Amino acid sequence: MIAIPSRGLQRIVLYTAALGLVAAGAGAHPATDSRRIEFPNVGNYQTLVCDFHQHTVFSDGSVWPNIRVQEAERDGLDAIAVTDHLEYQPHASDIPHPDRNRGFVIATEAAAKTKVLVLRGAEVTRAMPPGHCNAIFLQDVNGLLVEDPLAAFREAARQGAFVFWNHPSWIKQTPDGVARLTPLHEQLLNEGLIQGIEVMNEHEFSDESLQLALDRNLTIMGNSDIHGLIDWAHDVPAGGHRPVTLVFAQERSEAALKEALLARRTAVWFTNTLVGRAEWLDPLLAASLQLTSSRYLPDTSVLELVITNRSDADFILRNASSYRLHLHADVLEAKAHQQLKILVKPIQRSPRVVVAFEVLNAVTAPGVHPTIAFAAEVPELTTPAAN
Ligand SMILES: [Zn+2]
Ligand SMILES: [Zn+2]
Repeated sequence: MIAIPSRGLQRIVLYTAALGLVAAGAGAHPATDSRRIEFPNVGNYQTLVCDFHQHTVFSDGSVWPNIRVQEAERDGLDAIAVTDHLEYQPHASDIPHPDRNRGFVIATEAAAKTKVLVLRGAEVTRAMPPGHCNAIFLQDVNGLLVEDPLAAFREAARQGAFVFWNHPSWIKQTPDGVARLTPLHEQLLNEGLIQGIEVMNEHEFSDESLQLALDRNLTIMGNSDIHGLIDWAHDVPAGGHRPVTLVFAQERSEAALKEALLARRTAVWFTNTLVGRAEWLDPLLAASLQLTSSRYLPDTSVLELVITNRSDADFILRNASSYRLHLHADVLEAKAHQQLKILVKPIQRSPRVVVAFEVLNAVTAPGVHPTIAFAAEVPELTTPAAN
């Protein structure tokens, strides 16, 4: 059974802008039709855009590893992992490669003159349980070619790998599409041999996987698991994007990536939806949606707010305050890299008005959407202190 948390347990992201202190549009990202995936940094952390699950001809993928690097460059990715299947090798007679590190080595050479970090990985491809798991930050992929699945996980741990459970809701291995732990998964978790879980894989999202991540303190991941071409699989020319894991890292390096993954500092971005722990999604929303101007329309008590969206997400907002809006019904959209003007009717002018919105395309637990609040402060309405 999966427990669904109460919708009442919502945290509120509060953003404040004093009237006139921030000019509308200051520092706003220009409107862009670029395919680069862009989200703002969060606090002292850099937001690194990563795809930790990709295939090449060195297992059942259709492209040479350098193409994965070129796709990553076009999408503005900071890091990719080459994670060919260890035990499933349909091209082996055409492309023999006794050294299972070849895909990584070729991708690394292709990335030498780019900013893309390439991680050495493998997909441990077993029947359920345990199903498929990716090990990344490996030292030698060949070491995982062992009979016993537990031995493969223990070898990954010995090499210092970060291991995550792939597509736990994949209907070929889980016909009801419901991710659930088996005794073998319990053992792997208890031995600390799995640290993360894909809540999003290719085109499939799993609320149950998200709940498992929250219940068992696993890193929340979302990846493309691409076999063909990113452009075709995700309709990139038509404005689509691949699923990615956003990692909040101290710097852009392999060591910082690993530290952040082990510390669970991630969110997932897929089909215009953000998923993550409230701890990291709330500050990401606050950095993405900022109140950049507020004023009362002349001779009225109608408050004009300008919200600037500094991210790739087209945010769908639902008014969660007691005030009515003047231009919109209760649901409105803050388009990526654009400004949204909102008129609010507090009925009486007040020096401070807080307007809150539920972010419907952000998810912090199954069925739970975070709320972002904007506090408009109008200092000249504050009564001067008598003295
Ligand atoms: Zn798989
Ligand atoms: Zn895969």
